[in-house]
Amino acid sequence: MTAVSEMVPYVKTGGLADVAGALPRALSMLGCECHSFLPAYRAVRNNGFGLARKLGEVFVPIRGNREKGVIWSLNDRRNHTIYFIEHDGYFNREGLYGTADGDYADNAERFAFFSRAVIEALRTFPIAPVDIIHLHDWQTALIPIYLKEKYSSESKLGAARTVLTIHNMAYQGLFDKQILPQLDLPWELFQIGKMEFWGRLNFLKGGLAYSDLLITVSPTYAREIQTPDCGAGLDGLLRDRSHDLKGILNGIDTTEWNPGTDPHLGANFSAANLNGKYMNKIELQKKLRLHESRDVMLIGFVGRLADQKGLDILFQALRGILELPVQMVVLGTGDRGYHDKLNQLKLQFPKQLCVELSFNNELAHRIYAGSDVFLMPSRYEPCGLGQLISFRYGTIPVVRKTGGLADTVRDASIDPAEGNGFVFSEYSRSALTDAVCRALAVFREKSRWTNLVHRAMALDFSWKRSAEAYIRLYEHALGMAVS
Ligand code: ADP
Repeated sequence: MTAVSEMVPYVKTGGLADVAGALPRALSMLGCECHSFLPAYRAVRNNGFGLARKLGEVFVPIRGNREKGVIWSLNDRRNHTIYFIEHDGYFNREGLYGTADGDYADNAERFAFFSRAVIEALRTFPIAPVDIIHLHDWQTALIPIYLKEKYSSESKLGAARTVLTIHNMAYQGLFDKQILPQLDLPWELFQIGKMEFWGRLNFLKGGLAYSDLLITVSPTYAREIQTPDCGAGLDGLLRDRSHDLKGILNGIDTTEWNPGTDPHLGANFSAANLNGKYMNKIELQKKLRLHESRDVMLIGFVGRLADQKGLDILFQALRGILELPVQMVVLGTGDRGYHDKLNQLKLQFPKQLCVELSFNNELAHRIYAGSDVFLMPSRYEPCGLGQLISFRYGTIPVVRKTGGLADTVRDASIDPAEGNGFVFSEYSRSALTDAVCRALAVFREKSRWTNLVHRAMALDFSWKRSAEAYIRLYEHALGMAVS
C-alpha cells in the first residue's frame, strides 16, 4: 500500500512521480499486490483519470470540521489498484503544491487531510492487505504519526508497518506551529525529538521519527544525509535512526528509455550497431545548428537549472571547457539568473554552445541519444536519473562524486577495465574541467571510447532490481517487533 502526492502517468511535477509510478508496477510484476493512493487533483481529472469507480466516502477532522473525501478506484494493471481521493476545496486547483507565485498557504491542511483520508479509507473499505504502508516525502509523512497517535488499538491498522522514502532532504514541509491542533494532533508532538524544528512544525521530521523503516534513493545519499553538510538540519535524527535507514537506488523505465525502440529518435540503435547513435548525433548537431561532425565531442546537459545541479561551478568552468574542441547543449528550466547567464554565454560561443530553456521531453531523448558525454556536476544528487539514462544510450557520464552518482558511475581513468564514466570529487571549477579533459582524451582514442560505450550500454538499472531490494526491505519491516 502506497500513499504519494504524484505518480506517472496520472500527474507529475518531478522525479518523485517517476519513482511512484514505476515501483508499484515493478512490484506487481514480481507478484506483489499493490494499492496506491493519490489526491484527485484537477490535473488528474483533466487527464481523464480518476473518477472511474466510486468506492465511497470518508470523513476527516480538520479545523473542528468533518471534511468529506470521496474515494474513487481505478485498476491500473493486474495486481495494482489506484485510489484517488477527491476533495474539491483542497485539490481542484491549478497546481499540485502551489502556483508560480509560491506554495499554497494551506498545504499543511491539504496534505494532513490526504494522509488521514488514506487511513480512513483503509479502515472503512475492504482494501487488503494493509501490512506495509509505504510513504513518500513530507506530503504523506503524517500517516505514521496519525497511525500511532489515533489508530494503534485497531486490529487492521495497528499491526501495519510504515516505510518512508526520502527523495530529497531539501523539501521538508515546514509550517507554523499553530496549525498543529487544527490537524487534530496533540501539542505533545511539538518537541525536539518529534515535529519541532527551530520553532516551526516539520512534517518530514515527524515522519522520520515515527516510521518503522526509512529509505532513501541511494546508499551514498543514505550516508550523506547523516552528516551536517547534507542532512538539512535533520542529520542528528537520522544518525539516531541509522539502523533503520537504508539506501536503494532508483531504476529507470527501460520501456520509455530504450534506444532500440525510442520513437523520438531519427534512428534506433543498440550496442551491436552503433551507427544509429552517430546518425542521431549528426541530426542533433543539424537541429542545433552546430557543425556536423562525428569527431567533435558533444556534451549534453539536461536538468533543472537549480543550485543543486552544480550550475555555479559549471558557469565558472564553461569558458575553459569551450576553449577545447567540444560542443555543448544545455536543456533545462529553473532559476531566472541561470537563464540569463546561459543566454549571454550562448551569444559569446554561438558555434559551440546551444541552450534550450524549456521542458522538452522529445529533445531530452535526442540529447541522451546524440551526445557523446552527459554532464552532471551536481552539488548533491540523491539518486539522479540522467546518468542512468545516459548509460542506456551509450552516452558517457561525467559526474561529481556525490549521492547516487557516486554509486553508479566509476571513473574510467582510475579503473580502465571496469570504469563507465568520469568522476570528480572536489566541488570546484578545476576538478570539473579536469574530468571533461580526461573524457576528451579517451574520446580521441576511438577503440577505447567504443569499449566504454559498450560497457555503459550493458549496465542494468531497470526497476526490477530496485523492486527486489524493496521487497527484501518490506519483509524485514514485517519481521520487526511493534514499537
Ligand atoms: P531531479 O529529480 O533532481 O530533477 P533527476 O536526474 O533524478 O533529477 O531526474 C530528472 C529527470 O527529468 C530526468 O529524466 C531528466 O531527463 C528530466 N528533465 C529534467 N529537465 C528536463 C527538461 N528541461 N526537459 C526534459 N526533461 C527534463
